[in-house]
Amino acid sequence: MTMKLSEAIRLGAMATPKADGVFFDRRTEATCAQGAALLAIGKLDRKPRHNHANMTAAWPWIVTTRVSCPSCGKRGSVRSLIIHLNDEFGTAAGGHGWNRNRIAGWVATLEPMDTKRTGGRRLRRVLFATDRSAASRAALLAVAGLAVGGGTEVVVLHVDDRGRPRESEELTGEVTCGLIALAVHARPEVRHASRGGAAGQPRWRVGG
Ligand SMILES: [Zn+2]
Repeated sequence: MTMKLSEAIRLGAMATPKADGVFFDRRTEATCAQGAALLAIGKLDRKPRHNHANMTAAWPWIVTTRVSCPSCGKRGSVRSLIIHLNDEFGTAAGGHGWNRNRIAGWVATLEPMDTKRTGGRRLRRVLFATDRSAASRAALLAVAGLAVGGGTEVVVLHVDDRGRPRESEELTGEVTCGLIALAVHARPEVRHASRGGAAGQPRWRVGG
């Protein structure tokens, strides 16, 4: 099941700065709203060639659904209006320069309801060990992708091996809030270790 478009945009926006007029900006590794969504589902093509097709393959309803721009009333497909909202004034699309979270909020009001339910199945638990590294941020995308749509609880774990409990709580709290905003079940957990005690442990693992 493909992740909801609104969730994918939010997720990709957490990992990258915003790009204007292109799916992906090589110099800054920035993404537009659509680029962020493709990044989140692992379908962002660094060369622009396949990105249009990847978008419509993942979320076909965005080309078949016609709506009005929430800002100026201009009519168009959801897809053309995402571009119109993302890009700044003065570009060819003549847009409103919205940030990607705001676009995601608008998309969430339009997208088809998720009809699949996980039923009474026991929650699967994913342990996500986090720190402030780039690798950890990238792994967060994968974890959220696994857990989105319910059925999985993510335990955001930070091992405090420097005796800084307050910093550790802030970090796990921040990451947990980000996941909850994406409709992922998440809770923070801080463990305290002696110096170097956590070295060599896997960054995250999936458990039953
Ligand atoms: Zn408009």
